[in-house]
Amino acid sequence: MIRIGDVLVSHGEGGVYGERMLAGARVWDPFRSKLAALYYAGTGVELTPGMRVLYLGAANGTTVSHVADYVEVVYAVEFAPRPMQDLLEVARRRKNLVPIMADASRPEQYAPLVEAVDLIYQDVAQPDQAAILVRNCAFLRPGGQAILMLKTRSVDVRKTPEEVFRETIAGLAAAGLEIVESVWLSQFHQDHAAIVCTKHPVGVSHE
Ligand code: SAM
Repeated sequence: MIRIGDVLVSHGEGGVYGERMLAGARVWDPFRSKLAALYYAGTGVELTPGMRVLYLGAANGTTVSHVADYVEVVYAVEFAPRPMQDLLEVARRRKNLVPIMADASRPEQYAPLVEAVDLIYQDVAQPDQAAILVRNCAFLRPGGQAILMLKTRSVDVRKTPEEVFRETIAGLAAAGLEIVESVWLSQFHQDHAAIVCTKHPVGVSHE
């Protein structure tokens, strides 16, 4: 990842969401982006120029725009019409960002549009977040990685955030994903955690 001093940045056209510029680079704010928060609070996945990424829950393109600055192509799935309008504008200025208006829980809707990817990033804040990720692992190449941004309050408000965190990790492991990192992002995003997994070369089971 690119840092100027200890500030995380990406190289690309600025002005997407009023982000600060630093020495010609776009400052990637951990308070605005959970993925940036992961790079501050933990290790995350190194984004590289040859990488293909499937991004679920793209919203208006804040984080997606930074990811697109680093990688070869990003397939960005979003189902809400309003953020999609903003996302289309962001995509208009970036040749490697493919906006897809679809429901991430129904990957068959966009299967014809997406190739095998090296990384899945998922930030949909839904009760069945983990199951949605597992379903989308059909697009993940063996040995590829996935990052789940877990909003514990969206999963089950009757359980403590710690319980939801533990159960989600267990569920992903039971689906055949290897957990390589799990970290709370609370210093930047309350009740949010990041879980980084790897798909075994032999694949994962699907629900
Ligand atoms: N990842 C974004 C960022 O960092 O800039 C923020 C994402 S926001 C927390 C969650 C987004 O996921 C919302 O825009 C919501 O419309 C979208 N979303 C929720 N469920 C979805 C689903 N099943 N399919 C596609 N998008 C979904």
